Amino acid sequence: MAPIGPSARYALFLLTLSFLFAAPAHAEAASPSPAHYRYTARFDVKRGTITASAIITLPAAGGQTAFVLGERFTLTRASTDCGAHIEIAPTPAPLPHLQRIAIRSGETVPTDCRVTIAYHGPIDEAGEKRASLSANRIELGIDTMWLPVRQDLGMAFTIDADISGLPSSLVVLSQGELARSGDRLRIRRETTDNDLVLVGAAGLKRSTAADVDFYTATPDDPLVATLRNNAFGAAAFYRNLFGAPQVGPVRMIIVPRGSGAGYARRGLVVMPTFRDAGAPTPPFDAASPARFVAHEFRHAWGATPDVGFANYWMSESVAEYFGLRYVEAVLGVAERDTMLKRKTEAAAKAGPLLGDTRPGGAALYQKGPLLLFALEARIGRPALDRILIRPDPPITTEAFLVRLAEVAGPIAATAFRAKLADPLWRPD
Ligand SMILES: [Zn+2]
Repeated sequence: MAPIGPSARYALFLLTLSFLFAAPAHAEAASPSPAHYRYTARFDVKRGTITASAIITLPAAGGQTAFVLGERFTLTRASTDCGAHIEIAPTPAPLPHLQRIAIRSGETVPTDCRVTIAYHGPIDEAGEKRASLSANRIELGIDTMWLPVRQDLGMAFTIDADISGLPSSLVVLSQGELARSGDRLRIRRETTDNDLVLVGAAGLKRSTAADVDFYTATPDDPLVATLRNNAFGAAAFYRNLFGAPQVGPVRMIIVPRGSGAGYARRGLVVMPTFRDAGAPTPPFDAASPARFVAHEFRHAWGATPDVGFANYWMSESVAEYFGLRYVEAVLGVAERDTMLKRKTEAAAKAGPLLGDTRPGGAALYQKGPLLLFALEARIGRPALDRILIRPDPPITTEAFLVRLAEVAGPIAATAFRAKLADPLWRPD
């Protein structure tokens, strides 16, 4: 389907995700409880500004934790209640135009440390062509850098948020429990994520099926209806394979955008209408929306990505593999094979999936699923299912290879590792 393609914004989103998977600078494993945000924000849509305050409770630890926030914001407060020292400086990492707010405490801080970061400024960076908040659409997430997050983008947190100044026309969704009154949205999210996503549009209406709440303003648009049918279908597909989603029902929101891609969080999927206001529905086939929706639903169902470039394919290539399995289930194996065949040209020169740098898009989305289907052909689908379809599927390459050695023998595991690391690809 031609209109589904990466945009600059999506490229940025992928870039931020790549940093999400970069090695964390902080030992989180020892923390018994996740970080928690108490967040208040007021938007001024006319001016395009936000005034916000985040009170972030960090579990007792000590050492250094650095947050990043868009450089466009003026800090009105940066303080802690644990005596920690704060340093503020511009930083180009993990994205340009950020400021770094480093919290440095002693070797051991016996109690939780509450960090307050208050700020105001423009919602979007100068030059952003598509406003993140308008009367008919809102899309705010980690790629906008509107909320202070840990610099490696990998800190999971729970959140209580109180957001006001939202246009009354907008239906706004996020993860967690939501309470809307007037221009105000309160969010209580007890499940962890590394982000606070606000997404919505004017006139969204909900339709539901098992494990899915689907929101659109244009339910009769044929492409949107196809996305909805596939959302319901993909939910049934994954319920059958994995059981209930980790966070459910999955909220899927269709936002009015002519271009750009979809994305997912635990329990949340966002996709565009693929048409600008007033434009006709673009032509589309049956298989592309099916694959696309099922790919995002695999993410939303609950896989928690692990850190490191070496594990990135475990998130993206595996989601694409399941997207194609869904196509096979609903449209037949010939349709699936047609889609796989289209991946071979880009895969041939895609570069490695395992290496010192982040694998490219062609490696992740074209070559990775081809390797998984080739592995499936070699060891059999039941064997691959014993690795991938379980309550705790592997999220690292090493865990995947250990289980591959268990189900198919060490030679198969060694051979597959070599294929992941091989810059070249050719059909078996
Ligand atoms: Zn994906």
